[in-house]
Amino acid sequence: MASNSELFERASRVIPGGVNSPVRAFRAVGGTPRFIARGEGAYIYDAEGRRYVDYIGSWGPMILGHGHPAVLEAVLKAAAEGFSFGAPTEREIELAEEILKLVPSIDQVRLVSSGTEATMSAIRLARGATGRPKFIKFEGCYHGHTDALLVKAGSGLATFGHPTSAGVTPGAAADTVVLEYNNVEQLEAAFAEFGRELACVIVEPIAGNMNFVRASLPFMTALRRLCTEHGALLVLDEVMTGFRVGLGSAQGHYAQLIPGFAPDISVFGKVIGGGMPLAAFGARREVMQHLAPLGGVYQAGTLSGNPVATACGLATLREIQKPGFFDALAARTRQLVDGLKAVAADNGVPFSADCEGGMFGFFLLPELPQNYTTVMTTDKERFNRFFHAMLDAGIYLAPALYEAGFVSAAHSEADIAATLAAARTALR
Ligand SMILES: *Cc1c(COP(=O)(O)O)cnc(C)c1O
Repeated sequence: MASNSELFERASRVIPGGVNSPVRAFRAVGGTPRFIARGEGAYIYDAEGRRYVDYIGSWGPMILGHGHPAVLEAVLKAAAEGFSFGAPTEREIELAEEILKLVPSIDQVRLVSSGTEATMSAIRLARGATGRPKFIKFEGCYHGHTDALLVKAGSGLATFGHPTSAGVTPGAAADTVVLEYNNVEQLEAAFAEFGRELACVIVEPIAGNMNFVRASLPFMTALRRLCTEHGALLVLDEVMTGFRVGLGSAQGHYAQLIPGFAPDISVFGKVIGGGMPLAAFGARREVMQHLAPLGGVYQAGTLSGNPVATACGLATLREIQKPGFFDALAARTRQLVDGLKAVAADNGVPFSADCEGGMFGFFLLPELPQNYTTVMTTDKERFNRFFHAMLDAGIYLAPALYEAGFVSAAHSEADIAATLAAARTALR
């Protein structure tokens, strides 16, 4: 049996950095990545046979835990019927209908294979529908790795086209306006300056790619108002939060707090694929009509609406609609977050944490941060020591301090108790 470090060495010879997505390499926290052999319920098992309580859940999709029987059965049945046809199937309609039933702000969806593809297409759709070039994104929000979206920001208002990835040309990023998250003043100023050129604003309603930072109510209210006033579309990137923070997704949560709130375009991924490559973007009919073959905005995909992926997504969405599902998941997640806060307080460690549905975040900071700059003030060394102490105790947290965590329906009270016991030792 090969060890994790032997596998990592072998992987590093044939795959850059030994991984197919950078955060998996453990660069931020140091040490050897665990090569996962299999998952079962709330647990993953590495190549050396060690068991971990899994708080990554494939970065969100595994809301039912690994190998849920109903999902597994649906996937096996679909696979036996054929992997891919490049022609429409009834299951795509079923999944679209299921998504629309749960998301009242949209009339139609288009299915794609990754969140990156979905956000990229949503931006193109917004530009095509409005005939405008620019869009706003916020520092610390991740929307996949297309060029125009890979711009992070410098400080100050409207940092134009400052690429933060090599290979992104200033041209590709020239129409990306980057602002600070939760900063209403900057947002007002940007709209005053470029309002007429803005196709859309794209935002993570709960920013899970800088750990867990909620859009404040004044910020979300201003976003909606300014987009409407200036004829720009509001794009909610719910790839992470969709069907994860609640059955109504984050937009359902904000609609309860802000009367009449709804986005213009919604983007989903992660949970809607249940662990298979599947994502979607949707809007009202008049916006979606701009997409090919009806309209002039081109968008396509060989594996879009893949029969096995749609079977997996559909089975997952059906399970999470069972009565009490989200209440139980939210209660379990809350138990974890409150427990961690109590353990940290007992040990005099500065600590803050938050959660919604089955998504959580914690910071080694005394108060919940409101933007990326504050998130980055976390003591990284301290976080890394905590991460490794937990990992050694069989608790698999995200290997970077700017990532959210995920609880699944398979996590038991005993799993949470074991996690809190490990945290008590680690924080001490
Ligand atoms: C994960 C994520 C994406 C990208 O999705 P991929 O499937 O990894 O391409 C986009 N937006 C948000 C908010 C995400 O969390």
